[in-house]
Amino acid sequence: MTGSRAEPTLATIRGVAALRARVAGWRQAGETIALVPTMGALHEGHGALVAAARKAFDRVIVSLFVNPTQFGPGEDFTTYPRDQAADAGFLGALGVDLLYAPTHDEMYPDGFVTEVSVPGLADVLCGAARPGHFNGVATVVAKLLTQAAPDAAYFGEKDYQQLIIIRRVAMDLNLGVRIEGVATVRAPDGLAISSRNAYLSAQQRAAAPALYAALNEAAQSIGDGADMEGACAHGRAALIAAGFSAVDYFQCVDVGTLEPVTTRDRPARILAAAHLGPARLIDNVAVAG
Ligand code: AMP
Repeated sequence: MTGSRAEPTLATIRGVAALRARVAGWRQAGETIALVPTMGALHEGHGALVAAARKAFDRVIVSLFVNPTQFGPGEDFTTYPRDQAADAGFLGALGVDLLYAPTHDEMYPDGFVTEVSVPGLADVLCGAARPGHFNGVATVVAKLLTQAAPDAAYFGEKDYQQLIIIRRVAMDLNLGVRIEGVATVRAPDGLAISSRNAYLSAQQRAAAPALYAALNEAAQSIGDGADMEGACAHGRAALIAAGFSAVDYFQCVDVGTLEPVTTRDRPARILAAAHLGPARLIDNVAVAG
């Protein structure tokens, strides 16, 4: 060939049986395996998960499934960005071994009824604003982890509540998979990278970094001794002043149980969700011990 170099082609599997056969081959060769679950529309945030998995395991599987059961009525399931060819190119360049992109029928065959529910953890924060969302997430992730049976699975701290819920599910169901959290990847102005940032107009995109700024300011002032509830109320007001239309929550919570925290007697994080134009943005930061 002259001049052109073939793109690395990424093996893609669409069914559970083929996935298990591939994984069994790797196991026979004594290789370790990590899974990175995604809904596609991949960006540097997903890239960081893959890089962390790549570093620690012999084989990396990325799953791509836009899971209908975690979207509520009127949410963006049908318009969620989908470009599998671009995603496969992105993952091939990162040295991923396998793209697992199951069909809808493979995940939810006729008659499917079983649901993994996580009462308490799934009902607060984002769960209060999006009823059923985390049951959908818990169910699909439990399925993916059971199907691939990896040694570890990687999730972003950006979706902190999701990370805590998945840890709980893996423990409660004895899935035998280590759940690893990866720090949030941000744009240079601080905005957490998200597929849904594409919904923002230029003006909204310019206002969006106020979310991370408000979280940092609250964490800083709590670190300096400010009252936790007061700092969070200040954060909510800052978001409205910056042009957000509504704040679903802006709250200090226990890092493990997600219960509200009002005093600095245990490790805490501040989690927030707020609406900016057509997008609902979420983010979180640690409160320094
Ligand atoms: P999604 O495709 O949005 O379902 O996300 C798949 C995984 O990527 C989840 O574990 C997310 O938490 C993670 N993720 C998404 N955005 C980021 C980011 N900016 N930094 C780190 N992880 C992320």
